[in-house]
Amino acid sequence: MPEAMVASSASEATRGAATQQVDVAVVGAGFAGLYLLHRLRKAGFTSVVLEEAADVGGTWYWNRYPGARCDIQTIDYAYTFDPELERAWQWSEKYATQPEILRYLGFVADRYDLRRDIRFRTRITAATWDQTAERWLLATNSGATVSCRYYIMATGCLSSPKPPEIDGVSDFKGEVYFTGRWPHEEVKLAGKRVAVIGTGSSGIQSIPLIAEQAAHLTVFQRTPNFALPAHNGPAPADRVALLESDRASYREQARWSLAGVPWPQQTAVSWQLSDAERRQRLDEAWAKGDLVYILTQLWADQAVDVDGNALLADLIREKIRETVKDPETAAALSPHDHPFGAKRPCLDTSYYATYNRPDVTLVNLRQEPIRSITASGIKTDKRTLDVDVIVFATGFDAMTGAIMAVHPITGRGGKSLSDVWANGPQTYLGLTVAGFPNLFMITGPGSPSVLSNMAVSIEQHVDWVVDRLIAMREAGFTAIEATETAQAGWAQHMADCATLTLHRLANTWYTGANVPGKAQGVMPYTGGVGPYRSICNEVVSHDMLGFKLTGPNVAEQCNDGEIVRLQPDVRLVLNMLADMKLPPIESLGAQGTRDFVAEFNASRPAGRPVGEVVDGTLPGSDGPLPYRLYRPATPGPHPIVVYFHGGGWVFGDQQTDDPFCRDMCRRTGMIFVSVGYRHAPEHRFPTAAEDGYAATRWIAEHAADLGGKLGPVMVAGWSAGGNIAAVTCQLARDRGGPQISGQLLVCPVTDCTFDRTSYNDNATGYFLTRSLMYWFWDLYCSPADRTDPRVSPLRGKLEGLPQAFVVTCEFDPLRDEGVAYAEALAAAGVPVEQLNARGHFHSSFTMVDVVITGVSGRVQMADALRRFAGLPPERKEGDEGVRPRSVRLAA
Ligand code: NAP
Repeated sequence: MPEAMVASSASEATRGAATQQVDVAVVGAGFAGLYLLHRLRKAGFTSVVLEEAADVGGTWYWNRYPGARCDIQTIDYAYTFDPELERAWQWSEKYATQPEILRYLGFVADRYDLRRDIRFRTRITAATWDQTAERWLLATNSGATVSCRYYIMATGCLSSPKPPEIDGVSDFKGEVYFTGRWPHEEVKLAGKRVAVIGTGSSGIQSIPLIAEQAAHLTVFQRTPNFALPAHNGPAPADRVALLESDRASYREQARWSLAGVPWPQQTAVSWQLSDAERRQRLDEAWAKGDLVYILTQLWADQAVDVDGNALLADLIREKIRETVKDPETAAALSPHDHPFGAKRPCLDTSYYATYNRPDVTLVNLRQEPIRSITASGIKTDKRTLDVDVIVFATGFDAMTGAIMAVHPITGRGGKSLSDVWANGPQTYLGLTVAGFPNLFMITGPGSPSVLSNMAVSIEQHVDWVVDRLIAMREAGFTAIEATETAQAGWAQHMADCATLTLHRLANTWYTGANVPGKAQGVMPYTGGVGPYRSICNEVVSHDMLGFKLTGPNVAEQCNDGEIVRLQPDVRLVLNMLADMKLPPIESLGAQGTRDFVAEFNASRPAGRPVGEVVDGTLPGSDGPLPYRLYRPATPGPHPIVVYFHGGGWVFGDQQTDDPFCRDMCRRTGMIFVSVGYRHAPEHRFPTAAEDGYAATRWIAEHAADLGGKLGPVMVAGWSAGGNIAAVTCQLARDRGGPQISGQLLVCPVTDCTFDRTSYNDNATGYFLTRSLMYWFWDLYCSPADRTDPRVSPLRGKLEGLPQAFVVTCEFDPLRDEGVAYAEALAAAGVPVEQLNARGHFHSSFTMVDVVITGVSGRVQMADALRRFAGLPPERKEGDEGVRPRSVRLAA
């Protein structure tokens, strides 16, 4: 419908002489608002930008404190949508100063003649959705109103300064400054006693420069932060050369990278590197002075594993001790309360060295908290320090503050956004909110935004939103709204991503912890820029999955659903496998499959160190069988777990599940003996079952020789190995031993029926396919034998079996037969727990250090094995993420 008609049919609320009618209203004239205006105009939408400040710049307009600079290299922190613009602007430094970035944004505004559609000094006081007119009505501080079809918040993530929450601020008789609202006039600090409260990025950037001016500087630090030297200067020649060698490809790589800067994915994990190698990597990063580099390039587990992270944090603390001369000050400046990177680290210029100055004092607020601010200074629990100036570098009500500050935002049915977000922000893709039609946010909570190069994320968000508006106009839609299902699915996906990283282990503005009373939860999307981009694209290719689209002359469209149901790392693995365009595994033949798996496994991260790995042979049912024994580093004797690898009875060997065995050996403190049973088609049914049983018997009888505890053993296995473990328990019961105290069955084959729901739902697309399972069965077992309990244990007698822990995965053809086995065991009186791992696929748990979200499942498996052995659970820091809970089935 043409806008003129919309205006004439608008309800009373949107009429009025002063009401400006536009297709799109944008709040904020920073990086996002400027690009939005440019794109909207080019697409033929009438638009206005409303900006509280007197000029363009957004965060770079307000944050003009001494030392303010970007902390992403400027060649990366710039618009890329127009190659001509890139050629027309030269940055003078590796990290541009605030004035230079502000000049750049002014240059962009002039180049595209943007200012004529920006209303400066205009603050929105209310935004209300008019359902009848399908338009937003905006009230402003000037009294003028704006009616728009689409309302886009380009308000930034860190634009609403947080009140200092300290008593007595208004009593102070000296000068008070906030880094986030620094005056435009020169602030003269020379000869004055200055206090800085806060040691986040703003504090750390400004402290060295304030120290140079002030007569004395006192820094009040509540939580120390990690900082590394920026080594500012000209942009590094190697990065410039890389960019200039192929600008388009460099920019494209940035768009698909994890953080929005093109660095390769690190593959070496911390425990594969020697102390010297790790130190050398840290020294290189220290010399580079690049935040994205140090956050992503040292070792692959630095951001996802507590131990891998601690190695890095230790090395950085050493650097602090090397720089700061006074050991007590160095200790106070060394962060211990959060993993490196979980809180935004800072780039500094002489920050730590500043504390060597005689005219700089650090007050450790952990030892002497601030009681109040007085007329003359700052009073702590121990003393009063008189000062002339207080600088609050105390941060922002991040991510939600800038959106909620435009209060009230009233959506469909009179819903208020602050009510909807009372328990934390709810969004779909970080771009939209259910119940708030035609409202978009750029870098909203739920988008990668602050965990990425903002410039790259902003361009992606803006392009996605404007492209949707164009598509809607072409199709005749006038309203778009996220569905509740899609929004809930995004919240789940966000939570899944958050368990993957260490952000959840720190109290930060990322989680809302810096604002008293604010709902807690990781607010930015932690899954990475490239994965996020592919998800947004998938929403479009799946007919706007999760959105309801309506228009006056078109049928409503609503493809409801969740865009990501897989765990984030499972999704990455499956996408990677899909990109490899492999032929069906079964088409390779038995030997071809074995070769492929050996090659595939060679490229995976090596397993973690254990106390000892011993290869040996044991007598099987018909000749010797190889085994590999994993011994914990702790003093023995240890309980023994007999382990059977996966591979559809066709491929694999005692080393195939090496990372899994190592991980479980470490987590359980038990010996794992992985058995190399014989394979089909050379050795068909019941060879694998009989080998499994014979091996278990021998291992139990030779427990002492193997360094194990005497008494019952346990059995465990994955996939076909889970089948062998289950069958071994039945044979041991029926053949008079050995004694087995528990069975861990991970995604086991339990039955020869192929019509359960999971076989159909997960027939293709999740690596273990239905046709691959058919092939395995055909190679191992003739149809006449398939109902034998030695291959279909679900058909056997289940009474009197050892207690069990059965793991099934949501996207696995074998899921339902695993569930059926657990239920049947429970019905037969066997104590059993079942873990249905949401969002996981058949190989999730054995892909240790690849599928990181599998950790919580393995923690529970280890707990179960320890319980079987009569031992208490063992935990380490970081294990307590959001964990899928197993269910104890009633016997
Ligand atoms: P911040 O990281 O939230 O730091 C605020 C600091 O103030 C923290 O040290 C905090 O201590 C302290 N604080 C807050 N309230 C306090 C109180 N009542 N009493 C004592 N101390 C208090 O804020 P920021 O430094 O402004 O940085 C915010 C974000 O903006 C950064 O993480 C970064 O993403 C961005 N930024 C970027 C740059 C850049 O280099 N481009 C520069 C500045 C900011 P606790 O940690 O104990 O809460």
